[in-house]
Amino acid sequence: MWNFPTRAQPPPRLLLGPGPSPVEPRIYEAMARPIVGIFDAYLSGLLDAIQERLRLAFGTTNAFTLAVPGTGSAGMETAVSNIVEPGMKLAVFANGFFCDRISEMGRRYGAGVVRLEKPWGDVFSAEEAAAFIHREKPHVVAYVHGETSSGACQPGRSICRAAREADAVVIADCVTTLGALPVAVDETGVDLAYSCSQKGLGAPPGLAPVTISPRAIERIRARGTVNPSWYLDARLLEQYFFTPRRYHVTVPVSLYYALDEALTIVAEEGLGNRFERHHRNHLAFVAGIEAMGLRMHVAPEHRLWPVNTPLVPAGIDDVKVRVRLLETHGIEILGGLGPLAGKVFRVGLMGAGSTRENVVTLLGALEECLGEQGFRPRSSAVEAAEESYTAAVA
Ligand SMILES: *Cc1c(COP(=O)(O)O)cnc(C)c1O
Repeated sequence: MWNFPTRAQPPPRLLLGPGPSPVEPRIYEAMARPIVGIFDAYLSGLLDAIQERLRLAFGTTNAFTLAVPGTGSAGMETAVSNIVEPGMKLAVFANGFFCDRISEMGRRYGAGVVRLEKPWGDVFSAEEAAAFIHREKPHVVAYVHGETSSGACQPGRSICRAAREADAVVIADCVTTLGALPVAVDETGVDLAYSCSQKGLGAPPGLAPVTISPRAIERIRARGTVNPSWYLDARLLEQYFFTPRRYHVTVPVSLYYALDEALTIVAEEGLGNRFERHHRNHLAFVAGIEAMGLRMHVAPEHRLWPVNTPLVPAGIDDVKVRVRLLETHGIEILGGLGPLAGKVFRVGLMGAGSTRENVVTLLGALEECLGEQGFRPRSSAVEAAEESYTAAVA
């Protein structure tokens, strides 16, 4: 007998990890509406409106701007697979987990990958970026704007300037930053940027916004080999995402309803206000963390607002803390990856999760869970966070 109870009864969770971020009820409601066919004029209008607002969020006028079906990594693979051809040189600024993923994709698509390495949490200076690019003379350069694994924000302007001088195109991973802080694709000079639906934008996972500059599109059109990825081939994607819309794949209609609603929320708030909110809550969280006597892994001027990486204090088991946070408070945060495993907590204050209430709730819960392992806070984290908000208003 087919007699299983439904499993889709998720426990209540406050998602304050490095993604996915909390989804507002309005977005779930949008997803619950009936789907239409993929050539329906209604969906066509919705997709156009999504693409127009993605241009605003990316800070670009690139015609090729759309949301690819798939997660953030599908965005990454769209960028890499379309611009890399076998035998090309791909230069990667390597200071975290996702830089390694880009390198791995580059190798799979036949690039010779060269890397400039830095410890996770550090960023590259303008001089280091320029020297590396001028020395290597790559075809393609890649960097991660917001390294979710380390909590560091890599500025792109000097990378893009040096790449231009070397006639290289630039890939920027904006998976964690889109919708949470300015990515300014055109102003920075990025050629291929991608993101995801589930972090700064606050929709469920499943779509990957991608934008490609006319300069990079020209190179893609001039390729001597076809993209080995059929699914992510820009030349096939654009057949559906732009008129006269020919069939490529059956796009996940409900996810576009969700992304449309998420972008409506972004527009209602205003991008500037949204960035400011992420900044303010980041600062209050850091004030609380430091008041407790913990330290942040990343130097103040390089910290990401949506992903915060406080160091695990000596003698504390980070897994136990996270298990207690989840079991007794229903709060999800994550731990470090690779070289930062056991060394940092990864706290996401992104999208709808970046609120004063969440900062205060999390700091209180964190104090309690650290206290269970004998940690004694230097002073009250919650009070310091509250003071930070008051100071910001004054
Ligand atoms: C989350 C993330 C990705 C991967 O996105 P998925 O949605 O997990 O595929 C890539 N790069 C960065 C910087 C990320 O934070």
